Amino acid sequence: MTISLRGLTKVFPGGVRALDSLDLEIGEGEFFALLGPSGCGKTTLLRSIAGLETPTSGAVAIGGADVTALPPGRRDVAMVFQDYALFPHMDVTANIAYPLRIKKVPRARREAAAAEVAGRLSLAELLGRRPGQLSGGQQQRVALARAIACRPKVFLFDEPLSNLDARLRLEARTFLKRLQDELGVTTVFVTHDQGEALALAHRIAVMDAGRITQVGAPSEIFHRPATPFVASFIGSTPMNLLPGRVVVGASGPALHVAGAVLPAPPGLPDGEEVVYGIRPEYTDLSAAPREDAFPGTVAVLENLGTSTLVTLESAREGGDGLVQVVVPEGQEPPVGGAAWAVPRPERALVYRGDRLVGPR
Ligand code: ATP
Repeated sequence: MTISLRGLTKVFPGGVRALDSLDLEIGEGEFFALLGPSGCGKTTLLRSIAGLETPTSGAVAIGGADVTALPPGRRDVAMVFQDYALFPHMDVTANIAYPLRIKKVPRARREAAAAEVAGRLSLAELLGRRPGQLSGGQQQRVALARAIACRPKVFLFDEPLSNLDARLRLEARTFLKRLQDELGVTTVFVTHDQGEALALAHRIAVMDAGRITQVGAPSEIFHRPATPFVASFIGSTPMNLLPGRVVVGASGPALHVAGAVLPAPPGLPDGEEVVYGIRPEYTDLSAAPREDAFPGTVAVLENLGTSTLVTLESAREGGDGLVQVVVPEGQEPPVGGAAWAVPRPERALVYRGDRLVGPR
């Protein structure tokens, strides 16, 4: 089922504008992630699709039909919450079968459906247990099983992995990806974890203050973030975002950024202020000075396992910036020494205000 949101606005009593005239189209069978900082409106958007929140204005359509005025029970969506919302006094079978009980499906049929889904989610051995007797990962699978058992047209997940520890979270992520591929049900997934969104989604919407800043495939969002906000939000190590200025000299325009002279995208006027973005992974370290490098002093080394994150403090007169570089393991520079961070020009992103202007 497709999901279509038109001019969706939600103003809470007290005046908080959680959604601000938001438009969004989600395709049939898509695994779609809503990503953004705390308070940007992700949960409100998901709840509006579910029918748990009434929009102040705008419309929600599912499968081409306007459902704005329909209650949650008539929208054919299943929502999995962060805390799983399992019934503690019911066993696993009863929990999974609960929505079918509400739909008045006869007991034998709903228990058969629960057993079938439980088998698929490796819960067959646990059917007689109560939630309190299950691990976090098992509880999460029961919540998923309950959502799947009623065969909804749309899945809505609100941070379903956030209560799991790091290892289980990775396992559950792979599991969820396979399950969605297999079922092919349109899925909207809220997360504030950019790694999770990149790993799982066909497309990602990055939200900020009730609006969508960018929608795109994970590689698009990662490699061509539309604004410095999106750039700062995506990536396991934060992108270097440095103020710079266009200087048009005898040999054409160049960017002057944190002590480096770098190639400029075409068409920028002399004196224009820009933001220069380069990921630490796309920056190399040089032990000798170079014109196209940011000079600095090695301030911090952070072990990332197979690589090391190096933080340089700008050595520039009056400079107060930090630049980060990822170096392969075994190539760490000494702390306190001078070093030069060399951005790979083909990977650089240049922003003029909130607009990406290079590379073209
Ligand atoms: P988080 O990642 O922290 O869950 P979120 O992106 O899901 O955040 P929402 O929960 O959608 O954000 O909240 C968006 C804004 O609306 C916030 O400023 C929040 O405080 C406000 N808000 C949410 N629910 C209500 C409510 N029932 N009454 C008043 N304000 C609310």
